[in-house]
Amino acid sequence: MMSQRVPNLLVPLAGSRQDSRWAVIVVALTILAAGFTACAEQRTPGPNNAAPSAHAEATRATPPQAQPAPKPMPPMPPARTAPTATPSGPNQPALAPTAAPNTAAARTFTVIGAGDILLHSALWSQAARDARDAGQSGRDFNPLFASIKPAVSAADLAICHLETPVGPEQGPFSDFPLFSVPPQVAPALAQAGYDSCSTASNHSIDKGEPGIVRTLDALDAAGIRHAGTARSPREQATLTLVPVKGVLVAHLSYTFSFNGLVRPRGKEWLANYLKADAVLTEARRAKQAGAEVVIVSIHWGTEYSHTPNRHQTSLARRLLGSADIDLILGHHSHVVQPLERIGDKWVAYGMGNQVAWQNFSADTRDGIMPRFTFTEVRPGVFRVTQAEVVATHMWLDSRPARLYDINAVLSSSAEPAGVGSSCAASLRRTKTIVGKRGAFDAGLLLVGG
Ligand SMILES: [Zn+2]
Repeated sequence: MMSQRVPNLLVPLAGSRQDSRWAVIVVALTILAAGFTACAEQRTPGPNNAAPSAHAEATRATPPQAQPAPKPMPPMPPARTAPTATPSGPNQPALAPTAAPNTAAARTFTVIGAGDILLHSALWSQAARDARDAGQSGRDFNPLFASIKPAVSAADLAICHLETPVGPEQGPFSDFPLFSVPPQVAPALAQAGYDSCSTASNHSIDKGEPGIVRTLDALDAAGIRHAGTARSPREQATLTLVPVKGVLVAHLSYTFSFNGLVRPRGKEWLANYLKADAVLTEARRAKQAGAEVVIVSIHWGTEYSHTPNRHQTSLARRLLGSADIDLILGHHSHVVQPLERIGDKWVAYGMGNQVAWQNFSADTRDGIMPRFTFTEVRPGVFRVTQAEVVATHMWLDSRPARLYDINAVLSSSAEPAGVGSSCAASLRRTKTIVGKRGAFDAGLLLVGG
C-alpha cells in the first residue's frame, strides 16, 4: 500500500497479557536449551553461538506506568472444533475450493507478508556503498529492496518483520549476537511499500528498552505501523488497527523466545511473549474494537528447518480454530517452510529470510512473500479467496548484494550474470517446500512457478 498513510488508530485496551512467572520458567528453559541448540541469527553457525547473558542489557530505571484499568470482557465463545490435519500428497483428495464471495460487489483487499529482515553488517556496508554510488553520505537501503517494491507496494496491506532493534542514527551498530542495526532501514521499508512491521522476535530486547524505543521511533518517523513491542504499558495495551480499503485490519505480533534474555521485571510490556491464551484474548479484543480481519505475526519454529515443528502445527490449529483470528504469518526459521490451509484459513509457517547475509547455505537465501486476497463472504466476515506466493532470493555471490523478486528476474534479462540461474534454482527449492502440507491442492498459486 503506497498511497497516503492514514493516522494510526489507537485503541487502548486493558489487562495484563503476560504471565511473567511462566515467562521466567520458559526463559530459564530457553537458557538451558541454548546450550544444546543454535537459537540465534548468526551469519555462520559455529561454536560462538552461545546465547547472550540474561543480564546483558541495561534498561532505564524509570518505574513502569500504571496499567490502564481493566474493562470487563465478555466470555469467550465456545471453542470451535479444531480442524483436523490437512492431508497432503498426490493421493489425497483435493480440498474444497476456497470460500467464494457471495456478491459481485463484495469488499476485498490483498495482504502480502514477508520473512525476517535481518541486517548483518555486510548489508550495512552494501548500503553505505549504495549511498556513495548515488553521491550521498550515510547508508541507502533502497536499492537492496528495489526489486520487490512493485509486489509490495501493489498490495493493499504489506506486512514486514523487522527482526532486530535499530541503533542511533550515527551508530554505534552491532552484528550478531546482540544486534543494533542502522535505522536508515526504516525509510527504505516505507519506500518499498510496507505498511506495518511486526517487531516481536528473539532479538527484540537485544539492546534493552533503548533499542525498542529507537526502533519504534524510527518506524513512526517512516510512517510504518508496528506491533509486538512497546515503549510503555499503554502502547502495549494499544491495538495496531490499519484501515485497508474500508476494512479495519488488526495486526498482532508475538515471539516464542528472547534468546535467553529476560524482560526486566515489571517491564514485560516491552515485548510480546507468545502464549496462546494471550493471543486469543488480544484477537478477541481486536474484533470487539471493530477489526474485521485479525492477522497474527508469530516468531516461532526451528532455525534452518523446513519442517514446522509440533509447537507450530498445534498452535496454528488452536489459533485458527478461533473465529477471532484470520491469518498467521510466521518467521524465524530463516528457511522457507510450507503454507497450509487449516479449515478455511491459512498459515504461512515460515517465510524464510527476506534480507540477511547468511551465505553458509543456499536455502537461507530463499524467501517467500505470501499474498492473500480477502473477500467479504457475508457481512463482516472475510475469507481468503486467493492465496499466492511470490518467491524471493537474496543475491550474495557478487556485489551488489540484492534482494530479488524471482518472477521479476526471470521475466527480464537485465540482471547481472548468474542472478537468473541462482533465482531459478531458488524457485525450484521453494516450490518443493511450500506445498509440503497440501497447499497446492488447497489452491495455492506460486507466482512464476
Ligand atoms: Zn529469529
